[in-house]
Amino acid sequence: MQQHLDPVLPELQEIWQQTLSWQPTARQQANYQHLYDEILKGNQQLNLTRITEPQEFWEKHLWDSLRGIQPWLSQPEGTVLRVIDVGTGGGFPGMPVAIACPQWQLTLLDSTRKKIAFLEAVIATLELSNVNTQVDRAEQAGQSQQHRQQYDLALIRAVATASVCAEYTLPLLKLGGTAVLYRGQWLAEEAEALELAVERLGGQIDRVDPFTTPFSHSIRHCVHLKKVKPTPAIYPRAIGVPTQKPL
Ligand code: SAM
Repeated sequence: MQQHLDPVLPELQEIWQQTLSWQPTARQQANYQHLYDEILKGNQQLNLTRITEPQEFWEKHLWDSLRGIQPWLSQPEGTVLRVIDVGTGGGFPGMPVAIACPQWQLTLLDSTRKKIAFLEAVIATLELSNVNTQVDRAEQAGQSQQHRQQYDLALIRAVATASVCAEYTLPLLKLGGTAVLYRGQWLAEEAEALELAVERLGGQIDRVDPFTTPFSHSIRHCVHLKKVKPTPAIYPRAIGVPTQKPL
């Protein structure tokens, strides 16, 4: 019988170091391989990702997830941040971040129960003790005592337009906390529309961080929103309203 070999992720330590001034330990590398294996298995039942080739998975899921938190990666060990990944899907960017930053407390939020059930099984297999999950809509989580104004960082990738992402994430942040919106192209008009929305939500655009991915050379942007005032109680609005009537 022919032996089946699982695809192996590249290590690329030099590229991690050059681009993010960080490298995974052997244990973290093994966990990334486990995560990759589990996603490939999970993909047979759930539509988790179309990105399955090893180098593409490394670039578009692992590297991209960590590129968004680069400014916080080099914080001294022992810095405990509470972080939420809104609309985590197959666990991005939250799972790679949880593996890279074992001292942080991660919450992975998604409205799809099946995806969260999948992630719970992966978290147990990888024995990650710093991650918890929540099946909920961002609109509800943002109005709940358990999540509102509880996080230092809120990450959001491929979930909605920028102003909707702002309405989903800013209510979840503590004062002084940051939302990182993972975006592709970024145009001046988008920034203008976002600025108005962010102001109403008690935030400001702190920084737009452009970068090029190491292999496919795609241009991407991380938009950082800082919470400078409490978010008015009416936000986030009821389920579906942020997308139907964006701010
Ligand atoms: N963030 C992941 C990534 O970048 O690979 C997944 C992106 S996937 C295209 C969008 C995910 O957001 C889906 O899993 C969906 O269930 C979730 N989602 C969309 N709107 C949501 C909401 N209002 N509250 C919670 N989750 C939401």
